[in-house]
Amino acid sequence: MDSSPIEDGAPSAAHALGVLGAEPLVGGHPPQRASHASSGPRAAEVARIAAKVEDGLRITPAEGLLLHDHADLLLLARLADLVRIRLHPEGRVTYIVDRNLNPTNVCITDCGFCAFYRRPGEEGAYVLEREEIHRRMQELADLGGRQVLMQGGHHPRLKTAWWAELCADLRTRFPLVNLHALSAPELDHLAKLDKRPVEEVLKDLVAAGLGSVPGAGAEMLVERVRKIIAPKKTTTDRWLAVHRAVHEAGLRSSATMMFGHVETHAERIEHFERLRALQDETGGFTAFACWTMQPEGVPQQELYPRKATPGTYLRVQALARIYLDNIANMQTSYVTQGLKSAQLTLRMGCNDFGGTMLEENVVSAAGCFNLAPIEKLEAQIRRAGFVPTRRNSWYGIVDERLGAPSGPACREEAATHRAARLGKALVGAGAEA
Ligand code: SF4
Repeated sequence: MDSSPIEDGAPSAAHALGVLGAEPLVGGHPPQRASHASSGPRAAEVARIAAKVEDGLRITPAEGLLLHDHADLLLLARLADLVRIRLHPEGRVTYIVDRNLNPTNVCITDCGFCAFYRRPGEEGAYVLEREEIHRRMQELADLGGRQVLMQGGHHPRLKTAWWAELCADLRTRFPLVNLHALSAPELDHLAKLDKRPVEEVLKDLVAAGLGSVPGAGAEMLVERVRKIIAPKKTTTDRWLAVHRAVHEAGLRSSATMMFGHVETHAERIEHFERLRALQDETGGFTAFACWTMQPEGVPQQELYPRKATPGTYLRVQALARIYLDNIANMQTSYVTQGLKSAQLTLRMGCNDFGGTMLEENVVSAAGCFNLAPIEKLEAQIRRAGFVPTRRNSWYGIVDERLGAPSGPACREEAATHRAARLGKALVGAGAEA
């Protein structure tokens, strides 16, 4: 087991936060109220909002923006850590053994920030042979993998029937690997190709074995921004409507945000607000993850500013934990931010390290690739003072070191948990399956 210091001799999260003045590590009492909010003309307002968070109250969009712009990083970190401790007092940081699998990179949606896709017929365009998909899945299954994150481009000819057949085949061959597949824009694309409602597309995919839906393609849920960075992609309202349909079909999904490009600070808060409102309604999101735009080498690089700094990432990540008070889990993004930043976020609201991602094509196509072996991920988590714990797609614990599994074991149990929490009856195929 690797217990060496963090790469490049950088300090551990515990040390770094000690330098920042943070409280001792998890498991004990929540940090006390801050005596130092922020200095400057807005200090009193920041302190008032911080007190609301400390009291477990929800903050408004205006208060979120004020924290974004005027709270210092240490205060944001402390408040986010407080929210995390309330939700996850057991001192664990979870992760899932998974891999990315992109059956095709052919896409007709032409997002200017995407270095992954190829137009139909373009050099480098591919659709993976089934044997190759099986080989990659077998590698994952041999490692005890629990999930495949399966997404692709918006191929103009691969309809729902193609994806459903693939799902059914993989479900039969690899029953322990959950199919976490097809983002909202992909589902929307399939509905357009099929010329039928997304609810019907989902019904076929759920019957074929789709187990949960990734939160990709959200980018920034603000139309002004989407018109600039991805004008052909699913709109904000539609992205949310597809996730609502996913939740009503009895599946859980995750939520994401890509920031640090053409959006304003207020638009980051607007994104949070749209997610929080849908979660109030459905309770279907398991987790939230965010990352900064990776502008190097993308088709419309000239549109974008330089890559956002780690400080910006940490601030927004901490604010996400504070604002999204109804989404249970926060994933850090070590693939885009590196292990050092990811480790810091464990004291800034994050309780999950995401997936081990044995393969990652989308972010790496943009020149950003920070994959690490499982032992190294666990070492980072331990050095931050937490117990690394394996989970499944629904955040059930599936770690032999901790005894019997706990929490939802499958999509049906996850749907039941959500329904019980909301006091609602579920509709749709997943709830009946
Ligand atoms: S981000 Fe997705 S939809 Fe957009 S061009 Fe890339 S593969 Fe296509």
